[in-house]
Amino acid sequence: MSNNTQNRRQFLKTSGKAGMAMAALPIITKLSPSNMMISSEYVQQPLPYGYAALEPFIDALTMEIHYTKHAAAYAKNLADACVAEKVDTNATNLSDLLKNISQYSPKMRNNAGGHFNHELFWQLMKPAPATAPTGALAEAITKTFGSFDAFKTALGDAAKARFGSGWAWLVVKTDGSLAVSSTPNQDNPLMDIAETKGAPILGLDVWEHAYYLKYQNKRPDYINAWWNLVNWEFVQKKYAEATH
Ligand code: MN
Repeated sequence: MSNNTQNRRQFLKTSGKAGMAMAALPIITKLSPSNMMISSEYVQQPLPYGYAALEPFIDALTMEIHYTKHAAAYAKNLADACVAEKVDTNATNLSDLLKNISQYSPKMRNNAGGHFNHELFWQLMKPAPATAPTGALAEAITKTFGSFDAFKTALGDAAKARFGSGWAWLVVKTDGSLAVSSTPNQDNPLMDIAETKGAPILGLDVWEHAYYLKYQNKRPDYINAWWNLVNWEFVQKKYAEATH
């Protein structure tokens, strides 16, 4: 029996029914005065699948730590930064905040980016997805990169070449064309400080926290495995929204 289990049992034994109800609450419903009025877009949403759902490509422990520790911390720190920097989250879309991120603190930049990027990342993966896009997105990818395989190589190369922590992206630029880019840390293509600006429709997290437990230093193996999880229907929806 782990210490955690022991502590939890002890807690339940000593705190009775009230303690049981508290222990059963998922993290998302824990409201504090600082996030009670916050817009849902700024709050971590439930993971759309279980921690083990993306096995064997992403292991359950990595997913659990990634979601409950790393991503949860970005959401919490974003809420704190919004209070400190007087952002009314009900009056400011998160994407508009990101588009003006140079006007805010480094804490806001890191955590607004971190929260946005992870909320997108969870949604653009699913177990056993289609292996390739169809329709307008498939046509645009072929037109831009020559073939679907050439696109995968380009995005994979951007992900491998990102020194340290960051992301690789498929971006719809403001003129409607597609591009592959990469950003450091938790920056993203919406930000006014990004080299390649536009709407991110696919993003790959290449922070070590996303893969180290299973893949250690072998980032290319993680990248290759990740293609088995891309939810192309979701990416197609993002593409349609960005090009309408
Ligand atoms: Mn991450």
